[in-house]
Amino acid sequence: MERPEGHPGSGVTRYGLKWTEEEACMDKQAHPRAAIPEQGKPFMNQTIDVPPPASIDEIMGYHAHIYFRSPEERERAAVLRERIAERFSVQLGSWHDNLVGPHSLPMYQVAINDDVFPTFVPWLMLNRMGLIILVHPNTDRPRDDHLINALWLGERIPLMVDYMEESLKAAGRVRRPAIPNTHGTLPI
Ligand code: ZN
Repeated sequence: MERPEGHPGSGVTRYGLKWTEEEACMDKQAHPRAAIPEQGKPFMNQTIDVPPPASIDEIMGYHAHIYFRSPEERERAAVLRERIAERFSVQLGSWHDNLVGPHSLPMYQVAINDDVFPTFVPWLMLNRMGLIILVHPNTDRPRDDHLINALWLGERIPLMVDYMEESLKAAGRVRRPAIPNTHGTLPI
């Protein structure tokens, strides 16, 4: 980078590049730091109003929704489905090649009970074969479960939750535990 004639502050080196002072300032504008506290001063003295923490007792199992975006991904989803069945006790749902519920891609659902989560979800992290997976808890609040309290493996995709109840109890509905239809025995 050519140093402009008479510019006193040029020559800042970053990432092995020469910057003029002017350019360095432009760079700061592109990456504003206004929200970052001054060095050595953490965010403090902020008064905020937060609700008490929720108890995990509110969770009655989880769903993993395994999405596919192409015939090739559907094949991978089929391999994953087989591998899940060989290793875990879960409730494998039907294939949904057409969109159902809040989902904006075809998928199948895996319903799991609480005791399976600590092994199933880490196993999925390592074995999802590039597929997008939504893992959400099942509480009394399905809309929150999908939008706020979910885990995404891979990219996040839109969910259409407009029709979902905020509270099942308020809507007179009861959540039921998963009923496993696989009994996998292979090591994980
Ligand atoms: Zn679900």
